[in-house]
Amino acid sequence: MGDTEVEILTARDVPLGGPRAMTVRRTLPQRSRTLIGAWCFADHYGPDRVADSGGMDVAPHPHTGLQTVSWLFSGEIEHRDSLGTHAFVRPGELNLMTGGHGIAHTEVSTPDTTVLHGVQLWVALPDEHRHAPRDFQHHAPKPLRVDGADIRVFLGTLAGDASPVRTFTPLLGAELLIDPGASVTLDVDPAFEHGLLVDQGDVRLDGTLLRPAELGYAGTGRTTLTLANDSAERARAVLLGGTPFEEEIIMWWNFIGRSHEDIVEAREEWEKASARFGEVEGYPGDRLPAPALPNARIAPRKNPARR
Ligand code: MN
Repeated sequence: MGDTEVEILTARDVPLGGPRAMTVRRTLPQRSRTLIGAWCFADHYGPDRVADSGGMDVAPHPHTGLQTVSWLFSGEIEHRDSLGTHAFVRPGELNLMTGGHGIAHTEVSTPDTTVLHGVQLWVALPDEHRHAPRDFQHHAPKPLRVDGADIRVFLGTLAGDASPVRTFTPLLGAELLIDPGASVTLDVDPAFEHGLLVDQGDVRLDGTLLRPAELGYAGTGRTTLTLANDSAERARAVLLGGTPFEEEIIMWWNFIGRSHEDIVEAREEWEKASARFGEVEGYPGDRLPAPALPNARIAPRKNPARR
């Protein structure tokens, strides 16, 4: 059903940088697609043995104009931010941080973590809320069982469950574990577009085969989505959705703005340690310096026009 075919977005490998760098698989943004709903960034990593990869150790860095969503399949990450939050990101528990006008945070895998595996996602804030105050929300959804799958709804509503977490635009975020050979049909909001990021197994989304690390995009107009696990093991996937985000955004480093000048200003304020971003307490190391600005003006991004 729906007005368009499912589009397959493949990941590119991106080293996160630093001396013991983890590599992530990035599916958003990419040339053919900037956003799915307000979801504007999707990094997928692991399973990585921390003994080999060095794990995650991201020094204090800023964000503006967006929310970060951390969702783990295994391992544990210690989160600290300039709101004063000190939290642990654990499998099956949502941590959603609102950068808004400005926040700084650190993310470090804990010493007990042997395998790190999960996703890091960003949500673009609409213009009227992009200077919202810093915020941090946590939610551990109870897994719900439908015929053929276990579902954890961390944002929005799916299969009769609703997340209490507040968002600035209509959004959906859920983890699905699909039984071997099972097919599950879920009612969805036809005003939403959706992305299915496959972590393990081979999953058909409305008939289109998606392999691990691929993101299947399904446009608006669908009243259901059918997910079929073609593999002999349990499949795991993350379903993202939202109403199309029509604003043009500028993404550079850890900032989202609406103009080149917004980015220049945010960068300058980070470099001079202004109160806009605040201080992260308890991290044993220096803050990350912003990279140099490009010579050219930073171009806005918008989804390409529908073919
Ligand atoms: Mn961050």
